[in-house]
Amino acid sequence: APGTVGQAVIPLVNRLQDIIARLDGDAAAGLELPQVAAIGGQSSGKSSVLEALVGRDFLPRGPDICTRRPLVLQLVRHSASEEWGEFLHAPGRRFHDFEQIKREIEVSSVMVGAANADLANSDALQLARLADPDGSRTIGVITKLDIMGRGTDARNFLLGNVIPLKLGYVGLVNRSQEDINFNRSVKDALAFEEFFSTLPAYHGLAHCCGVPQLAKKLNMILLKHITDMLPGLKTRINAQLVAVAKEHAAYGDTVESAAGQGVKLLSILRKYCEAFSSMVEGKNRVSTDK
Ligand code: GDP
Ligand code: MG
Repeated sequence: APGTVGQAVIPLVNRLQDIIARLDGDAAAGLELPQVAAIGGQSSGKSSVLEALVGRDFLPRGPDICTRRPLVLQLVRHSASEEWGEFLHAPGRRFHDFEQIKREIEVSSVMVGAANADLANSDALQLARLADPDGSRTIGVITKLDIMGRGTDARNFLLGNVIPLKLGYVGLVNRSQEDINFNRSVKDALAFEEFFSTLPAYHGLAHCCGVPQLAKKLNMILLKHITDMLPGLKTRINAQLVAVAKEHAAYGDTVESAAGQGVKLLSILRKYCEAFSSMVEGKNRVSTDK
């Protein structure tokens, strides 16, 4: 994502996500990791916003419902020239081709309101309020500023004069279906957004317009959230570690060498035989006593 801060904690959280996903339900309970959820109506532009943040095309997108299954995709940027995607359902498989990522999402088929819809009645904002009643984690994203009705603009919305949000709003212009049909890249759309922000209606609103601003806000929030939750997460992981170590100790010492394992196995077998024969003898004794 453009202008990222806190680069170091994100790989850390990705690794934790890998590990936690492999735990069973009980062990994973209470180990929730910070996440960003994009909520919005069908075709409000959620996929477009995610792609614009990443700066790459990787989601199936269109006028119909395309991404309808929850899946976990980690995008790894190893260096400026090497980046890949990895799905939780296909561990270890690196997707270097972003077209292939799109196909994988299609075949395994799985915050945002469009400026041309009635934002005040947005289901997305109502849902967000359920999950975040005090609004400390909700950013309003207004997409499709370019196709608002003529003579109207989202200025008052972006300023929070219509529905106030603590963390405010970001207005975006992503690629239209036509742009996609003509193979315009996500990066080209960024230039369009810059042009758009020079319109008089959006004068002085540079701090709440554009993908880089959204990326900046998300990074600040995510970073703060990660920093706040890490100590508690560490405590919970340590508590589980102690419980598992206790259980493990109950199984006896570990023996590393093959010869040592053989000796151990023999001694278990011998004890078993002894226990078995004393049981049989006991039985015999009982029957002869009769
Ligand atoms: P999702 O269903 O919320 O994931 O929506 P998509 O991201 O798939 O977008 C639905 C349609 O709206 C696609 O055809 C996009 O090209 C188009 N779209 C998304 N954002 C914008 C925008 O800012 N302006 C315009 N004109 N079209 C957009
Ligand atoms: Mg989508």
